[in-house]
Amino acid sequence: MALYVQKYGGTSVGSVERIEAVADKVCGFKQQGHDIVVAVSAMSGETNRLIGLAKEIQSQPNPREMDVLVSTGEQVTIALLCMALESRGVSARSYTGAQVKILTDNTHTKARIQDIEVTSMQRDLEAGRVIVVAGFQGVDPDGNITTLGRGGSDTTGVALAAALKADECQIYTDVDGVYTTDPRVVEGARRLDRITFEEMLEMASLGSKVLQIRAVEFAGKYKVPLRVLSSFSEGQGTLITIEDDAAVEKPVISGIAFNRDEAKLTVIGVPDVPGVASKILGPVSKANIEVDVIVQNVAADNTTDFTFTVHRNDYEATQKVLEKVASELGAREVVGDNKIAKVSIVGVGMRSHAGVASKMFDTLADENINIQMISTSEIKVSVVIAEKYLELAVRALHSAFEMDVDGSVSG
Ligand code: ADP
Ligand code: ASP
Ligand code: MG
Repeated sequence: MALYVQKYGGTSVGSVERIEAVADKVCGFKQQGHDIVVAVSAMSGETNRLIGLAKEIQSQPNPREMDVLVSTGEQVTIALLCMALESRGVSARSYTGAQVKILTDNTHTKARIQDIEVTSMQRDLEAGRVIVVAGFQGVDPDGNITTLGRGGSDTTGVALAAALKADECQIYTDVDGVYTTDPRVVEGARRLDRITFEEMLEMASLGSKVLQIRAVEFAGKYKVPLRVLSSFSEGQGTLITIEDDAAVEKPVISGIAFNRDEAKLTVIGVPDVPGVASKILGPVSKANIEVDVIVQNVAADNTTDFTFTVHRNDYEATQKVLEKVASELGAREVVGDNKIAKVSIVGVGMRSHAGVASKMFDTLADENINIQMISTSEIKVSVVIAEKYLELAVRALHSAFEMDVDGSVSG
């Protein structure tokens, strides 16, 4: 008999009926003799609702208070799920992050897990109880409530599985696995039976929100067997695996990720002298703004245009920083565009195949989509394009790389 940590996301616990359905599912596993630890999200929409309330009062609320507020969503679902389990004759006990003791650092709203106390959970498991833990939250060394960043219940699930040495961490959600791309955007998207940690990490960091990036990192680091499955239907889902020899037989491209959350800024006509990149990006990073894709071109007149992308929420703040930097550097002007999107193709098979990037560029050219920026790594190629072409680009690439359900996978 196995120990499973099962994480149920917002849609899966989005109503009383759905919480009851989760309880039925958990009961089924229990009846088969397995030990079950559950991590739950808040009911779908609840975290956004809470953030909205805060924003009605203050545009930049105090992060500590934000965590006190948004962690309440998960407290509701742990209690309701335990009631549903008890009403089915299954003994269950709920825990907030602080009660378990999911110890984190004190970086409010994006805290990192440092340690998890397992003794009381182990006692409950020995007593045959189902343990239901609030996802997304922890407690810092001073006893303050912290949260782990949006989508953080995935990380709670994986961290619990690592701490308890579970046989598998199962992420139950509203799709039945990890697909070649978001199945809500491309109808022909195909479910993958397996995907490597490395690819999943790229997909997650390039915008596929099916798993939180930190959850994938954590699972890779602690070798937690991780599976994504549907709360609403049966099936094997997708197993996230450590790369094996079979990788040479893998398709060149495993998936397409995209991200609408970015904005692009360019400092035009910067004198092309050593130290310019650091003079531009230094103040940006000092303002706590993360930079993603960077492109620098040298013009014939010995000036350079310096372009980079940031999260769309940081667009105005970055503009302000750059106006100042541009005048100090004697640059011509700062221009920006916040209606861009980034599309990325990902696959470990790319390492051993040439021509992947050019196929991507040809496909976009055939659709008359202009590429504004390009960034590559060993296992991905990303392009920045106008947001209005995002769906067209993803669909075209999905079929060009023969990933559609009825197409064969290129190899
Ligand atoms: P949960 O609330 O269960 O955590 P999320 O909304 O965070 O669920 O993640 C599931 C969603 O991720 C799906 O509904 C799907 O639209 C989206 N998604 C994006 N990319 C992919 C992908 N490659 N495979 C599967 N789902 C994806
Ligand atoms: N409820 C949190 C969020 O919406 C955490 C999660 O669902 O994973 O981001
Ligand atoms: Mg999620």
